[in-house]
Parts: sequence; C-alpha cells; structure tokens
Amino acid sequence: KFISFEGIDGAGKSTHIGYVAELLAARGLTVVTTREPGGTTLGEQLRELLLHEKMHLETEALLMFAARREHLAQVIEPALARGDWVITDRFTDASFAYQGGGRKLELQKLEALEQWVHPHLQPNLTLLFDVPLEIARARLDATRALDKFEQEQAGFFAATRNEYLRRAKQFPLRFRVIDSTRPLNDVRALLADIVASI
Ligand code: C5P
Repeated sequence: KFISFEGIDGAGKSTHIGYVAELLAARGLTVVTTREPGGTTLGEQLRELLLHEKMHLETEALLMFAARREHLAQVIEPALARGDWVITDRFTDASFAYQGGGRKLELQKLEALEQWVHPHLQPNLTLLFDVPLEIARARLDATRALDKFEQEQAGFFAATRNEYLRRAKQFPLRFRVIDSTRPLNDVRALLADIVASI
C-alpha cells in the first residue's frame, strides 16, 4: 500500500513519518520511506534546484513532475510491485497545493501532468497534517536557513492550505485530515487508529 504525508511547511508531518513506519514494521511489513521532491539521485539534484533557484512557475511544476516520474520509476513502483509498503513525505497533492493553490498555476495543467505521469496510481491513504498558519510559521526551525518556499508570505501559505483542504473534501476516501495543533501523544494515538484500520 501507498501512504502520503502532506501539509504546509511547519505542519509537523515529518515528525510523524518515522512513527507510522514503526507501526507498520511492527506488523511485520516491509516499509520504504521516501520523500518529494527527491527520493532518487536525480530527484535530489532537482530538489536542490527547486528549493534554491528562482524559475518560471511552469518550469517549477514541470521539474516537480519530472522528479516524480523518476521517483515512481525507481522507488515507488518497484516497491509496490514487490508488495512493500511505501510512505512518501509529499506527493502530487503537494503540487496542487503549492504550485496550484500557492502559486496559482491553473489546476487543469496540473491535472494534465498527473494524467501523464501517474494516470492509474493514487495513494491508498493521504494523511493531511493541518494547522493554522501562525502555528506552522512558529514551528519552522529557527536555526536553519529557510528555503525558497518557506520564505513565502502568509497569503501563499493560506492559499496552499486551502487547496489541501479543498482536495481533502474532493477525495474523502483517501484523505484523513489530522488536527496537528493537538498534543503529540494525541496525534500519535489517532495515527495508530488510522493505521490499524488499513
Ligand atoms: O516537505 P519539505 O518541507 O521537505 O519540502 C521542501 C519544500 O518544497 C517545502 O518548502 C515545500 O513547501 C516545497 N514543495 C513545493 N511543491 C511541491 C513539493 C514541495 O513547493 N510539490
């Protein structure tokens, strides 16, 4: 099965990935944990460019999907074919949220890219970590330099968050929205319940 973790920067998703991987491994499952943009040698090089270079909005979207194509071919599809479970830190919902919601690229263009790159594959479960913007901003690690996306203004994140929430409503069967303002242990208990049921 295929699980994606989503949320705006600072929503806390990365904190919980290891925990969900441990829950699945404890059931004897083989788990591959990966991330986007990235997950392959080429993908990590594209990530560096995406996070630090200024570029046209459509170039950004195309490179995200180029990295995703490689990620699918090298990591995700082979793992699923072996029967492993895959947990990815971001997938195509992030393109809709950031390039679509945040940067206002027409959603039809993103839908066309999605149809091209993975017409038949969707996550079985998408965990959307949701927090108000102020809390997300406060959680960003103050000790490291912020990347290009993290330097965006509040309006960008509001639009990104709204697009995530809109997609959660559009695809209620695979999305679970996690209120990430709740205490860590409550979130963990909720994740354990969700994971036990898939
Ligand atoms: O998940 P992570 O924080 O590592 O993502 C790296 C950066 O890339 C983030 O700032 C995220 O907002 C951005 N991103 C993006 N569009 C995507 C995926 C990630 O803008 N499709």
